[in-house]
Amino acid sequence: MGVPSVFLRTFGCNFKCAGFGMPRGELSEEANNVNPDSYKKYEDLPLVSTGCDSYASWDPRFKDLSPMLESDAIVERIMEILPHGEWRDEHLVITGGEPLLGWQRAYPDLLDHPKMAGLKEITFETNGTQKLTDDFKKYLFAWKKQNPEREITFSVSAKLPCSGEAWEDAIQPKIVSEYEWYGTAYLKFVIATEQDFADAECAIGAYRADGFSGHVYLMPVGGVETVYALNNRRVADLAMSKGLRYSDRLQVPLFKNEWGT
Ligand code: SF4
Repeated sequence: MGVPSVFLRTFGCNFKCAGFGMPRGELSEEANNVNPDSYKKYEDLPLVSTGCDSYASWDPRFKDLSPMLESDAIVERIMEILPHGEWRDEHLVITGGEPLLGWQRAYPDLLDHPKMAGLKEITFETNGTQKLTDDFKKYLFAWKKQNPEREITFSVSAKLPCSGEAWEDAIQPKIVSEYEWYGTAYLKFVIATEQDFADAECAIGAYRADGFSGHVYLMPVGGVETVYALNNRRVADLAMSKGLRYSDRLQVPLFKNEWGT
């Protein structure tokens, strides 16, 4: 939190997470009820308070509302965003959707661009279900070797049953343990209820049993301030009482729930 970062959001996800913010067992229809024909760009789409708040980045009905850019154009856009027109202390956060889907094939072309040479830290914000391909593993290893200051982080937001996704699809300890060979990995669980925490404890046990050694964070549910303010203190107390880390949602009070945050 607080690190100047450029967010690159890729399109597509293997999940829908329609259970977020819903009574257990029910799925949100909020995004389904949005008519894509009524909008010209994704920033105009309505924000949702249930289900995945990033639906514009994976729902095929909204795909044409997002720009399709080649690597050169992405790099130019990044240079425009960076305050000094070059990488200094900023991080690159690659998020989604799910950024470790087929996009793994595209990252080497992007990261090998000469203007990306100064980049020192990449974070993949992943749901922790996608294996790294052999080619991408080799690439990540070589990318770090080129410059000892470089770091790779896998921020794994594993999806508990409150997301509406099935446990056997969402909790993939072997895949997440393997990320630790190529960078630092940590787990992050979104918590709304006691049941969510019980599920998180069960998942943590499964990850640890498969050798995962990284940190674990609890994060309060809430893409909007009203929901977030209801349980952030409770989740912080829970994290302290269990010896786990607490992750705030700095973007909620700072930027509210807006596209691009
Ligand atoms: S994994 Fe993330 S991007 Fe994909 S549907 Fe769930 S919350 Fe949304």
